Amino acid sequence: MNLKRLVRPSVQNLMPYASARDEFMGEVSVYLDANENPYGKYNRYPDPYQKKLKIAISEIKNIATDNIFLSNGSDGIIDLLIRGFCEPKSDNIIITPPTFGMFRVAANINEVATKKVPLNKDFSLDANAVIDSVDEQTKIIFLCSPNNPTGNEIKSDKIFNILNAVSCLVVVDEAYKDFSSSPSWSSQIEKHPNLIVMQTFSKAWGLASIRLGMCYANQFVVEILNKIKLPYNINLLTQEVALEAISSGIIPNLEQINIEKQKLNTSLSDLDFVEKIFPSKANFFLVRFQNADLIYKYLCEKCIVVRNRSKELHCENCLRITVGTPEENQFLINALKDFTK
Ligand SMILES: *Cc1c(COP(=O)(O)O)cnc(C)c1O
Repeated sequence: MNLKRLVRPSVQNLMPYASARDEFMGEVSVYLDANENPYGKYNRYPDPYQKKLKIAISEIKNIATDNIFLSNGSDGIIDLLIRGFCEPKSDNIIITPPTFGMFRVAANINEVATKKVPLNKDFSLDANAVIDSVDEQTKIIFLCSPNNPTGNEIKSDKIFNILNAVSCLVVVDEAYKDFSSSPSWSSQIEKHPNLIVMQTFSKAWGLASIRLGMCYANQFVVEILNKIKLPYNINLLTQEVALEAISSGIIPNLEQINIEKQKLNTSLSDLDFVEKIFPSKANFFLVRFQNADLIYKYLCEKCIVVRNRSKELHCENCLRITVGTPEENQFLINALKDFTK
């Protein structure tokens, strides 16, 4: 597979920024190269390639460090992928609505066209339609599994069909992977050089505020991303907090969230104005109400914010509700019970 022809010419020819510490290979004893203040705890620029953190991630994910790229949230990776591979005003990406909004937004910002291949009404993927809509200018297909906002996973044979049929990049966004027991697509990156798997510390790990997303990809793709990223793209505080979280050995509260998820499902299904709760492999439910806008407004008045997805394709009258703490979920359910009165 020729990945090189997918890269934007300007990126292919780019001479990237190099710091003195990129160029100096030995063990440094005196740093006088970067105009830092010599005093303080956070006075030094952080490791531009986050080697220590990548080793820790490599160990828990069983992926070679050379196949890992880290960014300011997965959002940062989506943006870099588009900027690295899509030529503005000529190339396009494919998305499968209803899905995560940032794929389209990042493409729009970069003047890259978005082709939409809708999911079926039951939120299953139409793999053949995706394959058929790939053209010469298609650089990236963005798939999301478990999908946001629908909560379902894409059947693995459909992703395999796409991987085997296309030669553009195929991104599988696994932001909610930790809530599902299905294997990660990261085990397939060796066999499929055009596959890129994204994960994040923002959801199950409970670290949305540190802004750390990762992708696992062919070394060539990782090198392209390294070439175009900002030089010190992951700050030291983020690296430290992530290392500490990983060293604890477990994802905190995951079991608790799964228990609460089942309880929330039961409580919601007892409400007679709830029409459908879509099965979820994530930490949220897409819920169809008789009148979603009315419920949404009512909840806002009660100072409860959920996500109104009722304008999304196939999501008429649907709200997306995140699983909270036992107290938060109870607060929501009590408010909804009062709605009928
Ligand atoms: C929440 C979410 C992300 C996470 O983005 P970060 O920038 O890592 O916080 C990515 N993809 C999907 C589908 C999400 O729902």
